[in-house]
Amino acid sequence: MEFRDLKAQYQHLKPELDEEVLKVMKEGNFISGYQVSELEKQLAEYVGVKHCITCGNGTDALVLALMAWNIGKGDAVFVPDFTFFASAEAPAFLGATPVFVDVESRTFNISPNELENAIQGVLKEGKLIPKAIIAVDLFGQPAEYPRILEIAKKYNLFVLEDGAQGFGGGIGEKKACSFGDIATTSFFPAKPLGCYGDGGAIFTDNDDWAELVKSYRIHGKGGNKYDNIRIGMNSRLDTMQAAILLVKLKAFVDHELHDVNTAADYYTSKLKNIVNTPIIKEGYLSSWAQYTIILDSKKQRDELQNVLKENGVPSMIYYPKQMHKQEAFHYVCRKEHSFKVTNELIDNVLALPIHPYLTWEEQEKIINTIINFFENKSN
Ligand SMILES: *Cc1c(COP(=O)(O)O)cnc(C)c1O
Repeated sequence: MEFRDLKAQYQHLKPELDEEVLKVMKEGNFISGYQVSELEKQLAEYVGVKHCITCGNGTDALVLALMAWNIGKGDAVFVPDFTFFASAEAPAFLGATPVFVDVESRTFNISPNELENAIQGVLKEGKLIPKAIIAVDLFGQPAEYPRILEIAKKYNLFVLEDGAQGFGGGIGEKKACSFGDIATTSFFPAKPLGCYGDGGAIFTDNDDWAELVKSYRIHGKGGNKYDNIRIGMNSRLDTMQAAILLVKLKAFVDHELHDVNTAADYYTSKLKNIVNTPIIKEGYLSSWAQYTIILDSKKQRDELQNVLKENGVPSMIYYPKQMHKQEAFHYVCRKEHSFKVTNELIDNVLALPIHPYLTWEEQEKIINTIINFFENKSN
């Protein structure tokens, strides 16, 4: 059994994928082929924003967005303590200081109350200037944007939506990657919409920021690539990945997002009385980058993971370390009492296999292994 079965997906989409990949090789436009702009057009339309700009990966996407806002030294950027490293690495890479904020248990997303406390803390201390909030759509569920955007407005901060795991999710009629002033996503193979290598994208309604991002991603170009008006980087999505994503986006919209939600609902219906299952807020839709359960203790979590492994069921611990405990952030102020929920999650979370091609038999096996684990314990 695979944790995320990319081979099953390939078998399902093989005829179309093979054809489109061969076409790219025959046509020979490996960088900036027409597939790239076609993909950008379709992604912008799907998400419901004016601009989509693809780039090399989800980490570059975050850096490019922050560059458009001129974020750097002396700036405070608020980031959840429970996330993938890149969310905090991007502001730090530009010299800004990540300020870590605790999350909410069960949704795993940044806590609006803790966010406001952290902003006030930085203002009171007076050393850094609060500039931006990086809200992460962790495990596929959008962060609580109605409240985050309100707080951002009150303190005059930018909101960057890190939708690397959130593509396809939504709140009401609005889709993920449309909530931030700028939003980003990743096409790393295991993300909800993944390519066959690295890839990323930036979304915004703002024309000026879109222009800046387009320039920064190609060597700070002015009129053309050999007219360079600022220091940028080289971060493009190549034609092959765009061609693959065009096929995959269609499947994602046609059935994958629906199928992964069916699998998640089935887990929840079978497991909710046994373990703490993830909670999706009323009116929110998740794209289920992960299906993460919460156990009562580290001991129990580790025991269950071992039993799953013995039964041939892969599981993962996302994430095993808090951002504030990462050695790379040793210079950042760490007030241990402020990370109560994250500290618990680190010990107690376990992500189960989930993807649109998970079979009923596979899921039954996973669920029964968990049920048996708890029955054996209580005997
Ligand atoms: C994967 C991920 C990224 C980085 O994306 P890459 O394409 O791997 O660079 C950033 N943020 C979050 C939350 C992620 O899960």
